[in-house]
Amino acid sequence: MAIKVALISLGCPKNQVDSEQMLSMLKDAGMKHVTHPDGADVAIVNTCGFIESAVNEGLSEIFALSELKKEGRLKKIIVTGCIPERYKGEFLKELPEVDFALGTGSCQKIVDAVTETLENHRAACFDDINLSPISAKRVLLSPTHSAYIKIAEGCDNHCAYCIIPKIRGRFRSRPEEEILKEAETLVQSGVKELIVVAQDITRYGVDLYREHRLANLLKKMCQIPNVEWIRLHYLYPDEIDDRLLDVIASDKKILHYFDIPIQHISDKILTLMNRRGNRAFIEALFEKIRTKMPDAVLRTSIIAGLPGETDVEFSELCDFMKKEKLPRAGIFSYSQEEGSAAAAMENQVDDETKSRRMEILGDIQYSVMEEYNERQIGRVLKILCEGFDPDSGSYYGRSYADSPEIDSKVYFHSDQPVSAGQFVSVRITGAVDSDLIGNTAFEEGEPA
Ligand code: SF4
Repeated sequence: MAIKVALISLGCPKNQVDSEQMLSMLKDAGMKHVTHPDGADVAIVNTCGFIESAVNEGLSEIFALSELKKEGRLKKIIVTGCIPERYKGEFLKELPEVDFALGTGSCQKIVDAVTETLENHRAACFDDINLSPISAKRVLLSPTHSAYIKIAEGCDNHCAYCIIPKIRGRFRSRPEEEILKEAETLVQSGVKELIVVAQDITRYGVDLYREHRLANLLKKMCQIPNVEWIRLHYLYPDEIDDRLLDVIASDKKILHYFDIPIQHISDKILTLMNRRGNRAFIEALFEKIRTKMPDAVLRTSIIAGLPGETDVEFSELCDFMKKEKLPRAGIFSYSQEEGSAAAAMENQVDDETKSRRMEILGDIQYSVMEEYNERQIGRVLKILCEGFDPDSGSYYGRSYADSPEIDSKVYFHSDQPVSAGQFVSVRITGAVDSDLIGNTAFEEGEPA
């Protein structure tokens, strides 16, 4: 009988791609993917471990699996990815319930790990995290019409608060032809939206080709027959050049959705964060993007409470967010991570102040979103349908302004049946909380 393997994928889309590759390797080895660990031979937790809350989430999953194991409803637990990589030798020592561990450079050994653990061999494997990223087939965990495509691994930016370069290695681009081949295979299998991801996609090519090659890559990706949407995640501000913006502006397939994490706006805090570019640069960049593409939807991420952030810098950040009105923003509380440069900084901000600042920023952002949603009423948007929600009795999907998991949804009624993965025109009639609502407008022609 085939070995039954369940996989729990935690963390970011880049981790999800690793999970999808591991599932494909297990499938090719004749193992069976089961959706629930109860009754499985092996459960794999592919973890995220870049901040304490992510580590805690991973540990909770491991402890829940350990209960199943004690009750005889699961044989073995394998943990992969960022948490074992971060704690290396300590990991198996501290967690006796875990049977096997693989670091971020060892995912390709998953089949051996499953086999060995079922033979009662307990080990941890940590290969070089700076090896070239692997290209492997995938079993998608996302809906079949949308898939992430990872174009590089690791990061060279060394932001002071971040330990990702330590657990994911140096920035390594995948060869262009491999990415395009994978993109083509995904589109041929029914994917309509390719979501290009890496820790920093703007740096693509610098290591491999000695030049920035994201613009080139996107031009070629646009030529893949039947690709409808290409969405970009994580553009480092100072590497967004005019050539890249021109390519994005010139092909409708590349969505005018700009995920540009800025993390803060005060020059003092940006310097402490070891981020390149200052306030003036970021403001000029946003203005340039909006001038070139008036329909651009800007997303960013912000960290509140870095050591040294006083009320002065925090007010500056709040004023900036009120003024810029970025429709999409992820707001995070600074997390003091062992091994990061910021962890050793003086003037750490206390938890209460960090929570209060998060709340203030959350309120500002909520008002910005409400205003943005108001402005959408009356527009006809191109929506990628994702399914039917029986609770509201309506279909739901996403426009170019909505990335999966992190942004809002558009709920809509339709007289004609609509299937998941189908594009429809929807006239927006209102907003509920952060989501939009509307009705299909088949007669309206080409939507925004
Ligand atoms: S750009 Fe900065 S925050 Fe993002 S992964 Fe790299 S070091 Fe971490």
